[in-house]
Amino acid sequence: MKHNGYEFDNYFKNHPDMDGFFGKYGGAYVSDELKRAMAEITEAYFTIAKSSKFIGDLRRIRKEFQGRPTPVSHLERLSGSLGNVQLYVKREDLNHTGAHKLNHCMGEVLLAKYMGKKKVIAETGAGQHGVALATAAAYFGLECDIYMGSVDIKKQAPNVARMKILGANVVEVTHGLQTLKEAVDAAFEAYTKEYKDAIYCIGSVVGPHPFPMMVRDFQSVVGIEAREQFLEMTGELPDAVVACVGGGSNAMGMFSGFLNDPVDIYGVEPLGRGEVLGDHAASLKYGTEGIMHGFNSVMLKDENGEPAPVYSVASGLDYPSSGPEHAYLRDLGRVKYDVVDDEETIDAFFKLSRMEGIIPAIESSHAVAFGMRLAKQMERGSILICLSGRGDKDMDYIIEKYGIR
Ligand SMILES: *Cc1c(COP(=O)(O)O)cnc(C)c1O
Repeated sequence: MKHNGYEFDNYFKNHPDMDGFFGKYGGAYVSDELKRAMAEITEAYFTIAKSSKFIGDLRRIRKEFQGRPTPVSHLERLSGSLGNVQLYVKREDLNHTGAHKLNHCMGEVLLAKYMGKKKVIAETGAGQHGVALATAAAYFGLECDIYMGSVDIKKQAPNVARMKILGANVVEVTHGLQTLKEAVDAAFEAYTKEYKDAIYCIGSVVGPHPFPMMVRDFQSVVGIEAREQFLEMTGELPDAVVACVGGGSNAMGMFSGFLNDPVDIYGVEPLGRGEVLGDHAASLKYGTEGIMHGFNSVMLKDENGEPAPVYSVASGLDYPSSGPEHAYLRDLGRVKYDVVDDEETIDAFFKLSRMEGIIPAIESSHAVAFGMRLAKQMERGSILICLSGRGDKDMDYIIEKYGIR
């Protein structure tokens, strides 16, 4: 169907185009050597990952290992406290390892295995992607090198322990600020040397083509399941769908199920402490067009045009860019992007915990907060929120910073 005059009937067949572009966003801005490696992955994706054998394997793994389909839950008490609008959540917190990230990691590592690779490589900041990838590598029996800055290694000790227990090799990056940016550079450098035997596994719908497409497609199981489940539960489609956007993978997965429906779609970015550059990570709202990490999208830049420092109470959302498809869907007007600050997020975190018995990840609490805000604005109808992960990982931080409310 058409939205804003734009036809979405064959959207997935035409997006991205052959070169990995969503309009002007996307592409593969990498060295010639890495271009060849990306072309090899793209080729493998379109042949191997579209084969019935691969699809059959992935379906079985999702069911028997990940515990999919994850349910959709009606938030009866929370909805009742806000008015007449009914809130629902897609429970990615119940996916194995406690978040949606495993959906694309299992797909990426299964593809690596089919391609005959021996190792997977990635960087991690807060450690969530590292843990998901280490889990997938353990399952498939592949080596796993996770690059991580020294500062993050100290901060994220429990996730470092998890990765090591899962058999991953955590490579400490000791130069520069010793955080995510340096880890990305180190991981790319290692991959350039090892790409014959290894594959780089990106943690969101970002990076050079084919990753934004591949990660979206592997995550689309979230939206496809949720749409079916919601129809079965209520006999109709939700009026609105909401997800938080860091790089944008849980959101793209969820939105994929509803782009061609008469449903309003909202992506929620972290406003952090406020609108000043450095206090938030809302690249779709405040960023400008720019290339980083191998793709063209929107970006928060410092005065030199380099990626700016960003902040969010949720470590999984503090990325200075967003996936190219989000920038495209924003420009088309198909998805509306809005922001929620730390305070509103933490309020939603406690409300969902207290009223529904679900402790959400702080990332996901951004989506819940926006859903609650929207529920107060709408008079009736229903809102489906992607609950991207569970909050166990955030307990120490919440207690230390906010106490028990
Ligand atoms: C990593 C993470 C996110 C942010 O990543 P996206 O690619 O934007 O989905 C959101 N929620 C949770 C629970 C995460 O771990």
